[in-house]
Amino acid sequence: MEKILHKERLDDWIAALSDREILSPALEDGVWAFRPAGAAVRLDYPNTTQPPKGLAFPQREVFFSFEQVKGEAPLLRQTLPQVAQRVVFGVRPCDGRAVPRMDKVFSDHVEDPYYWARRKQVAYVGLACQQPPSSNCFCQSVGGSPVSSDGLDVLLTDLGERYFAAAVSETGKALMMAGESLFEAATDADRAQLQGAHAAALARPQRAVRDPDALPSKLKASFDSPLWEELARACIGCGICTFLCPTCHCFDINDEVTGAAPLKGKRVRTWDTCQFPDFTMHTSGHNPRENSGARLRQRVSHKFQYFHENFAMHQCTGCGRCVTGCPVGIDIVSVVNKVAEHAG
Ligand code: SF4
Ligand code: SF4
Repeated sequence: MEKILHKERLDDWIAALSDREILSPALEDGVWAFRPAGAAVRLDYPNTTQPPKGLAFPQREVFFSFEQVKGEAPLLRQTLPQVAQRVVFGVRPCDGRAVPRMDKVFSDHVEDPYYWARRKQVAYVGLACQQPPSSNCFCQSVGGSPVSSDGLDVLLTDLGERYFAAAVSETGKALMMAGESLFEAATDADRAQLQGAHAAALARPQRAVRDPDALPSKLKASFDSPLWEELARACIGCGICTFLCPTCHCFDINDEVTGAAPLKGKRVRTWDTCQFPDFTMHTSGHNPRENSGARLRQRVSHKFQYFHENFAMHQCTGCGRCVTGCPVGIDIVSVVNKVAEHAG
């Protein structure tokens, strides 16, 4: 379904979706994040500082509560999320492409009921990039594009006073049908304008990963390279690169005990990261990734080798957030290029 939406009708479309929670980019304390939009959706943003991944995979969530009176069987109460239907406006194509990657992670071997309870309720309305929102964007190097609709339900393209709206899923069609009278049929002239806008977006220069198809084998060959330690020397293990990444998904599970008699508390999942020194620490004290080089190698190899071996696609979507956010300037594009060059 392809339609035209005049920009002054965007708020009316939002109103037509009022039985759902609407989110859009919002600037708070210098940080762009997806927040409840109220009546007005903001689409005048570069890209969000935080990706939308927390909507399906929150930073902290309770699995169940437990209570055990001494001598009796423990009482467990599962806490499956009860989430209203949500529509997220303004998702950039790199974050759209993160969605099927996260879906694979949380469906592989076993379906994660906590992830899916939220994920099934979220619809993504994307906004094509007219120009790279950051100087660190490299989506085209990793198989994406600034106008990709992969993982989205609707893709909006800004045509000046109007949006070209393309529904790319049944959910997306239903969203557009909810405001049916607000949309106009797209004409051949509109499609020609869309193609021109997309061609211009594709021609804008971006950073480049050289020969990304060769990376899985080159990374495999570089596992024992001393280069990793050199490239990671400045790393302070803050984890910002992974917490801002739309596809990083490592987590920890803890029991938070709130009472001893009876024993009670909650089992909680929280984000964790392979960049923390104790992420792989064994109870024996042995740590198989004891230096920052081994930890950088894990992050980069997971994105461009291990995920590729499992799912035949790079896990990185080229959003550039890990480059922009790293406080010491560790840059995944130059890291993979240097490792690949070294591997020959
Ligand atoms: S690895 Fe970096 S550039 Fe790639 S998706 Fe994650 S944050 Fe974005
Ligand atoms: S953001 Fe930079 S310093 Fe922090 S863990 Fe990642 S690579 Fe290391």
